[in-house]
Amino acid sequence: MTDLAFTRTEAQRLSEAERDSILADPGFGTRFTDHMVSIVWTRQGGWHDAEVVPYGPIPMDPASSVLHYGQEIFEGLKAYRRPDGSIVAFRPEENARRLNESAKRLALPQLPEELFVEAVHQLVRVDADWVPGGDDQSLYLRPFMIADESFLGVRAAERARFMVIASPAGPYFTGGVRPVSIWLSQTHARAGRGGTGAAKCGGNYAASLAPQNEAAANECQQVLFTDSATEDTIDELGGMNLFLVRSDGTLLTPRLNGNILDGITRKSLIRLAKDRGHAVEERDITVTEWREGAADGTIVEAFACGTAAVITPIRELKAPDFTIDFGDSAPGELTMSLREELTGIQFGTLEDRHGWLDVIVPAGA
Ligand SMILES: *Cc1c(COP(=O)(O)O)cnc(C)c1O
Repeated sequence: MTDLAFTRTEAQRLSEAERDSILADPGFGTRFTDHMVSIVWTRQGGWHDAEVVPYGPIPMDPASSVLHYGQEIFEGLKAYRRPDGSIVAFRPEENARRLNESAKRLALPQLPEELFVEAVHQLVRVDADWVPGGDDQSLYLRPFMIADESFLGVRAAERARFMVIASPAGPYFTGGVRPVSIWLSQTHARAGRGGTGAAKCGGNYAASLAPQNEAAANECQQVLFTDSATEDTIDELGGMNLFLVRSDGTLLTPRLNGNILDGITRKSLIRLAKDRGHAVEERDITVTEWREGAADGTIVEAFACGTAAVITPIRELKAPDFTIDFGDSAPGELTMSLREELTGIQFGTLEDRHGWLDVIVPAGA
């Protein structure tokens, strides 16, 4: 338990009819629930002023450090409505832990993990009606922390704010899971040794947008980044981790080398695959290995993973001078079966044998 009590200011809630019409087709990240959480930190006073308030603009001084030097970190997780009506979150304590890892790298304050989880609970409870119950629907939660001290000098800010907002999310793939084409960025890296690649910070995403545009210009939906030193060792996509599947059922995924994000989906899939008896190799993987393996038939599937899409099958990797193609646009078999298992656990249709679900609103409440 946390000893910081939350105050609540009731929002003018959207009518049930308006909410239902949004929940019928929520899309992703464009509509937000009635409330949000805000907690303030100062070097002098620590964390204080924990509030649940109406969703809306936040007052910000134009000199706030986040606007100039990008001192910002975030998280992403989902709350699901199970068939029995209960509402659960998937491994929120992992997000709490990771936020603090990111905070260390961005010189932001540590947030007690139980306060993070409590903030998520507060928001989901007050806006429980916003957790959709349709097929593949969920409530996407976006906790984030910004430095909002008004000061243009360059140093770690002495004032920060932690917030949680929530947005109903529809199925990531409408009309069935479709494998994507990904673009191999050869001119840009997302991270270098000692940089911020392992932190979930806005700056990494800002740096991935120009390569993302380059991918789009080449008819690809995502970008794959390699290590900036070798230009061959695979890091990850702009916002998803990568897995390859060998014909003997072995899963390959880049090791956490300090430049890539420690994905909770990645970690959960490694567990599920090992439970089934698959070998999982976390090590350096190169584009060359992928290229040769795809050519000689030893690498048979590829997928990306992250909270938003869970698993995105990959049909090809395109570069200016070559394409690795599985010669088949159907999603891989193991790719899809792992996807079904993980989403089954999240949505409450399969047993949660690892205790990954955190019940926020019990059935019948
Ligand atoms: C958030 C994120 C992921 C996926 O992490 P999950 O915890 O699985 O959602 C992967 N890569 C990057 C760069 C990310 O920011």
